Amino acid sequence: MIQKIVIVLCLLLASCKGNTQEKKEMMAAKADKTETAFAVTKTEDEWKAQLTDMQFFILRKAATENPFTSELLDNKKEGVYVCAGCDTELFTSKTKFDSGTGWPSFYKEIEGNVAYDVDYKIGYKRTEEHCATCGGHLGHVFNDGPAPTGERHCINGAALKFVPKK
Ligand code: FE
Repeated sequence: MIQKIVIVLCLLLASCKGNTQEKKEMMAAKADKTETAFAVTKTEDEWKAQLTDMQFFILRKAATENPFTSELLDNKKEGVYVCAGCDTELFTSKTKFDSGTGWPSFYKEIEGNVAYDVDYKIGYKRTEEHCATCGGHLGHVFNDGPAPTGERHCINGAALKFVPKK
């Protein structure tokens, strides 16, 4: 009987340790983000004045737009997708593909202009991505995308503006 209790206690301790470890990672990830100084920084009121409500909630509050709602979803024109907050070039039309998810998807970012973080918002680990210039939340990147990178950058259309090629 005592042996059983000891085993149960050990299991409980082990699972607690796991949670603590995850929490630590989560805290570290959060700290990373808040400590990063972005080239473009504005107050919450300044962002609110500049952005639409939708852009504000996505870029500044890391919300997610409903799938199949972005007018950029089926956009197949040649051009560049820039940050809706600061106009930094983030993705090109060449890397856009139809992922079937309902969100604009790309297999590659414009290198150096997108930064990454880890989030646990829906209970498991995902790689969050944001604009490297203003920190605006864009979406998440997954490893089930097409060649040549195998990446699927799942991006909120409202976080982007499309600039057609001239
Ligand atoms: Fe930006």
